[in-house]
Amino acid sequence: MAFDNLTEKLQNVFKKLRSKGSLTEADVKLAMKEVKMALLEADVSFKIVKQFIKSVEGRAVGQDVLTGLNPGQMVIKIVNEELVSLMGSDTTEIALKEGKALTIIMMAGLQGAGKTTTAAKLAGKFKQKGKKVLLAACDVYRPAAIKQLQVNGEKQGVEVFSMGDKNSPVNIAKAAVEHALKNDINVLIIDTAGRLQVDEDMMNELIDIKKNVDVYQTILVVDAMTGQDAVNVSGTFNEKVGIDGVILTKLDGDTRGGAALSIKAVTGKPILYIGMGEKLSDLEQFYPDRMASRILG
Ligand code: GDP
Repeated sequence: MAFDNLTEKLQNVFKKLRSKGSLTEADVKLAMKEVKMALLEADVSFKIVKQFIKSVEGRAVGQDVLTGLNPGQMVIKIVNEELVSLMGSDTTEIALKEGKALTIIMMAGLQGAGKTTTAAKLAGKFKQKGKKVLLAACDVYRPAAIKQLQVNGEKQGVEVFSMGDKNSPVNIAKAAVEHALKNDINVLIIDTAGRLQVDEDMMNELIDIKKNVDVYQTILVVDAMTGQDAVNVSGTFNEKVGIDGVILTKLDGDTRGGAALSIKAVTGKPILYIGMGEKLSDLEQFYPDRMASRILG
């Protein structure tokens, strides 16, 4: 998993802290220097790391900690608590409208981030919760995207609305909404087109869909393997299009995973789910406390 390296490094720091019966301020500072290095190597953004270390140090060098029982254990507990708080503390669900009312969810993200796969994964989650779900294929640029959504929708037992690639994404989205309302759909998930990089056309297309259909939640899909880029992309999408939450994919890979620690702090928007593999069942709800435990090992 993405954090293996970070976990190993933090465990080495913690082992040293635990082995000491008492701690001085210098011991804590040295340990925090090592934690800082480990976080930076895991690709957590510099600004976030600095703030994080400051918060931990501020609490850990207090007399209560240093003169208390098990000071090492206390410092580790503080690191854990600050990690949870960095990632947003509470678990955030994707907000749905009350009762059976139609909720429209728009997926956004760069090409290859995992948007189409994640749209189908999410459809399965909502279906499990008893919702009637419709997927709409609005990625008319990537040739295989429509077919991919159809194949995955079928695997999930979820209907896929498509109009081929000759219509504009906005028109397909509008027609999908009409279809959804006629067929008592509760959740409509719109798959949109990505580009290789953040570009104006992509942003305008998303803004246009938002203007023309009553999008309730905009969910950004970002690839954890792209590290700092994932964080920057999240910031840009949030600024330009406005997002409600982030799904971080490919955390199963052998990557540095620091994006998971920075996205909430940088964008103010929560991570909702994490992608843990290519299979349609490989989507996990994001729990900041469990993620912190995973990272700390
Ligand atoms: P899109 O261009 O954003 O629609 O991206 P796709 O949904 O086509 O995904 C791109 C590739 O990433 C595909 O090969 C997916 O199987 C893969 N993928 C998506 N999510 C995950 C994930 O969480 N873990 C792994 N390992 N691969 C993923």
